[in-house]
Amino acid sequence: MSHPVLTALGLSATESGTYLGNGEWSKTCDAGVLEPVNPTTGEVLGHVHASSQADYELIIARAQAAFKIWRTTPAPRRGEAIRLCADALRTHKDALGSLVALEMGKSKPEGDGEVQEMIDIGEFAVGLSRQLYGLTMHSERPGHRMYEQWHPLGIVGVISAFNFPVAVWAWNSFIAAICGDITVWKPSPKTPLSAIASMKICNEALRAGGFPDIFFLFNDAGSELAQQFVDDRRIPLISFTGSTKVGRMVGENVARRMGRSLLELGGNNAIIVDETADLKLAIPAIVFGAVGTAGQRCTTTRRLIVHASMYDEVLAKLITAYKQVEGKIGDPTDPANLMGPLNSRDGVNAYLDAIAKAKAAGGKVETGGTAIDRPGNFVLPAIVTGLTNEAEIVQHETFAPILYVMQYKDLDEAIEMQNAVPQGLSSSIFTTNLKHAEAFLSAAGSDCGIANVNIGTSGAEIGGAFGGEKETGGGRESGSDAWRAYMRRQTNTINYSDALPLAQGIKFDL
Ligand code: NAD
Repeated sequence: MSHPVLTALGLSATESGTYLGNGEWSKTCDAGVLEPVNPTTGEVLGHVHASSQADYELIIARAQAAFKIWRTTPAPRRGEAIRLCADALRTHKDALGSLVALEMGKSKPEGDGEVQEMIDIGEFAVGLSRQLYGLTMHSERPGHRMYEQWHPLGIVGVISAFNFPVAVWAWNSFIAAICGDITVWKPSPKTPLSAIASMKICNEALRAGGFPDIFFLFNDAGSELAQQFVDDRRIPLISFTGSTKVGRMVGENVARRMGRSLLELGGNNAIIVDETADLKLAIPAIVFGAVGTAGQRCTTTRRLIVHASMYDEVLAKLITAYKQVEGKIGDPTDPANLMGPLNSRDGVNAYLDAIAKAKAAGGKVETGGTAIDRPGNFVLPAIVTGLTNEAEIVQHETFAPILYVMQYKDLDEAIEMQNAVPQGLSSSIFTTNLKHAEAFLSAAGSDCGIANVNIGTSGAEIGGAFGGEKETGGGRESGSDAWRAYMRRQTNTINYSDALPLAQGIKFDL
């Protein structure tokens, strides 16, 4: 019997993980089985048949054929297709949000919020479909006109992480679709059901609207097909969201074949609390940033850099708040709970390992630091003091709710600490001092892709370009002009004169 949340989405306990196009799901059942687990209970939620080599080849051939049609479909018409997807997601928001919460282990409002992000980026993409602007330039030659235009790229390969099992696909595929591209998606093996449900909702809406296939899906039992995907020359862009370890390999392999990659990798995000900070804002922002989604967001707050004059007060307030959270850890689909489980046993082990390393390095665990003895992957959120920013464990992203709290004396030192990690995703400062806020945002301030004032590090709105520097990979997705990553730029010069003047006044007399 399938789980009621699956039934609500028309999914059964055994599903194919391969969408082949033409409304067909693969019948392959000998390429391995994925068994996504409910992290709250340890129960297997369903069985997903992985894709075969033949499935993969068929998908790529169909995606290539689909691109030939889609690239010449007018962009506003492509926007209409995405409008239908956003509408269908709105209809299924409650059920899909519940499935995301169930399979990933995030709270129901966060699951719903993720689906809302899909809807929002869909609507953004609809508007954008009329705004894929290029520039015109003044030619240096008489009787010449120059301009640039943006053309579709081809097949976009999306490889996504478990912690945002549906939104990351929508960020990529909806923008890619209005740009004229076809998306092939390989989701995390930990969350295949959320991926299958998203594909069904969107592809059924596209078919009902008379649109061709623009989204394909495959699931890999190991990582063989995923590696082949990365190396596949038929795929001009691989958009990868995941750990720095895997992302580095993906980036190197795509570069070797001269493809493009868009990398959204790990973060090691810090909040600075200065001596003028309003703690009514700062404390909830820190707690939500460090504990929300059980520390499994790329933008989770992992380091806190507090002015020495505020250190004792901030630490005491945080410990009190953490004790309150401890009483509200449990099933994330229960609205009474503030924190759910880690997604996997591996996550729990990584958390325990980090706590042991922190202690061995001289750190003091102020609160939390242990797993909870109950079914599911539950841990207590931890605050660790007494380590320097240079400590190896502080430099590392542990994908769990561990907050390292450190102190500083002057702002330059705080900014230097904030920047002195290999990652560069999200950062923020809590201050009421305008000079401090501006210094933090200046060219000599935060080196991250995201820098905030008086809001935390965690989460982002779809309107801005999302991504980070250094080992976070440099990619930008979602809003602003991130669409350009999904298109190729062409510069055009048209000579409407009767002469053939060369650029830079060069003479070439025949
Ligand atoms: P992961 O790196 O383990 O897996 C990510 C994806 O890579 C999965 O789909 C996985 O199956 C695939 N993969 C694994 N081996 C591969 C290979 N050899 N070739 C190609 N693909 C392969 O990451 P995860 O544990 O799912 O996610 C957590 C990580 O993702 C964290 O580091 C987090 O910070 C990061 N993340 C970053 C962002 C961002 O936007 N910067 C967003 C979400 C998550």
